[in-house]
Formats: sequence, structure tokens, C-alpha cells
Amino acid sequence: MNPDIITRIAPTWQSENWQKALSEAIRDPAELLDILNLPSNLLPAARKAASLFPLRVPLSYLERIEKANPHDPLLLQILPLYAELAKTTVGFSTDPVGDLNANPVPGLIHKYQGRVLLITTGACAIHCRYCFRRHFPYSDGSSTPTHLQQIINYIQADKSIKEVILSGGDPLSLSNARLQAIGSQLSTIPHLKRLRIHTRLPLVLPERIDNGLLQWLQSLPLQSIMVVHCNHAQEINPTIRQTLRKLANTGLTLLNQTVLLRDINDTLDKLKALSESLFDAGVLPYYLHQLDRVTGAQHFEVPDKEARALAKELSHQLPGYLVPKLVRESTGQATKQVL
Ligand SMILES: *Cc1c(COP(=O)(O)O)cnc(C)c1O
Ligand code: SF4
Repeated sequence: MNPDIITRIAPTWQSENWQKALSEAIRDPAELLDILNLPSNLLPAARKAASLFPLRVPLSYLERIEKANPHDPLLLQILPLYAELAKTTVGFSTDPVGDLNANPVPGLIHKYQGRVLLITTGACAIHCRYCFRRHFPYSDGSSTPTHLQQIINYIQADKSIKEVILSGGDPLSLSNARLQAIGSQLSTIPHLKRLRIHTRLPLVLPERIDNGLLQWLQSLPLQSIMVVHCNHAQEINPTIRQTLRKLANTGLTLLNQTVLLRDINDTLDKLKALSESLFDAGVLPYYLHQLDRVTGAQHFEVPDKEARALAKELSHQLPGYLVPKLVRESTGQATKQVL
């Protein structure tokens, strides 16, 4: 076969692979409980909570969950529970970080100096129960091609913007072709130096990291940074480790952010194991986030005092480069608040 033809059709096969994995994600609470051998008395709560924010979990993530263990730290991130329906606690809201008020152009959030956040798409491969965007009206803010031109114009007009952050939802749920289009438009802006991608897909849908994506990352004229989102060492099995290493090998700077979560990663040992596993996979810990106080996620919160004590102890037991910065996103502030 003509080698030209191979390069033209290969990306299609690959994209079908990850699209297929995405479409096979589990959405039915009964199916989830069945696959994981969990008691059916969890079902009414799961159904009810999923009616507010749907269940969604890819099979590759399910494989890393221990069967018949209702306390598994990965399960607790995706299983809808009654606790999500609890009456709203003071301080919790549906837009905890004030993103809905910082949109100069639909799909763009310019809150921090020198950096803009581009809401590329509302879609995520997994639904994390603590997600601060569980109430976000994605469809209004998603960047269609028309918006992209407005966004490019906005960045072009503001020379203080050095970095564009692709966020979401999950920006890697866009096709390689769409990412290439965004990347090449951004590359024409002379004052723009860096492209950052915030994504959980390398951890939850490793199929997404296909050759087309790796080639695109490698060929980007902008300096690139990827911030993945991993909350527990158990998320990093050999497949994920290999996936992360492939990303690191493209030459981008690979960082991680973690959300500090009650009963999931709120002990010194778990946080240490996480930092060690990340580094082993070629990733540096960046942020340890205090939970965004979103309605329905109250039960995941760890008090600041306890969070600070954990971060302090972590800094005593690990080299500096393995200690993430403990931060909180707060409404109206021009940077993240360091705790
Ligand atoms: C977190 C965040 C950023 C990036 O902050 P860094 O400290 O550079 O990681 C930018 N914009 C918004 C709205 C953010 O929430
Ligand atoms: S992957 Fe990120 S954006 Fe998507 S549901 Fe989870 S926390 Fe929210």
C-alpha cells in the first residue's frame, strides 16, 4: 500500500478506538453495582443522585476499582450517593469559583493575570462527584468555531496574555483535528508563549493518548504544559504509567493536580504514595486543591486546619519537588489562595 495512504487513514482508526472506549463508559448505576459486585441497597441513592449529575465512568477506570469494596478510593469518586442530596451547607453554591462572572467572551475566562482559560468543551469522560462544574451550564460556554474567532481576537488584543489554558470539561475530548485547529490559530499570536492543557483523560481514558495526539503535542510551536488530574496512587496502574511516560517523552512539562478528598486521599501515607507514583510515571505534583465548595459535594470536604497539617507533614517527609502546593480557588481573587 502507498505509505501516504497509511498515514492518512491511521488517525481515523485510532480516533475510532478512543471514541469507542468513550461510548462504552458505564452510565447505568445498576450496571455499575453489578460489575463491581456491590450490594443492591446502594441503588436507590445512586439512581437519585445520578438524576442530578449523571453517572459516567469508563471501563478502564472501573478495572482499577476493587470489587465488592464500597470504600474503594476510586469508587468513592464516581459513585452517586445520598450525601449529594443533603441540604446545602452555608458557603456551598452552584458556582463556587465565580467562573460565571468572568467571561469576557463566551468560552473564555480571564480571571488571572497573563493567563486565560479556554472552555473548549463541556464533555468529560468521567463524572467526578466532587466536580465544581457539576452545575455549570456548559452548552452556553462551549467554544464553537464562531466563538474561537472571538477568543483569538480577544487574546490578540491583549499583549499581557502569555499563556492559554485549555480547560473544560475535558479539552482532550476534542478530536485531534479540532485541537490542531485551535493550536495553529493560537500559534499565530506573537505574544503568546505557552499552551497549557488541563485534562483528566490520561488517567481515566488512556486510549485517548493516541499517536496523532502525541505527534501534535510534539510539533506544537508553543511551549506546552499538561496538568493531569490524579487523586490516588491506585489510579496509576501499568497502563496509565506507560501513558503518562509517553506524554512526558513528547517533551512537554507534565504536572498533576489533586483534589484533597475526605476518605479518599486525606492521609499522609496516601498523599506520599501518590507523589511517589506520579514521579515514577514522569509527573511532578503541582497543586493540592482544597475542595471547591459546590452544592452536593459537602461530604468530600477536609477542613483547612487538617489540610494544612497534612501539607506540612508532607513537606517534612518528601523532597520539595514532590510536595504539591496546597491551594484554594476563591471567588473574585486574582490568584489561587495558598493555604
Ligand atoms: C487555576 C486557574 C488558572 C491557572 O492558575 P495557575 O496558578 O497558573 O495554575 C487560570 N485561570 C483560572 C480561572 C483558574 O482557575
Ligand atoms: S474530569 Fe475534571 S471537569 Fe470532568 S468531572 Fe472530573 S473533576 Fe470535573
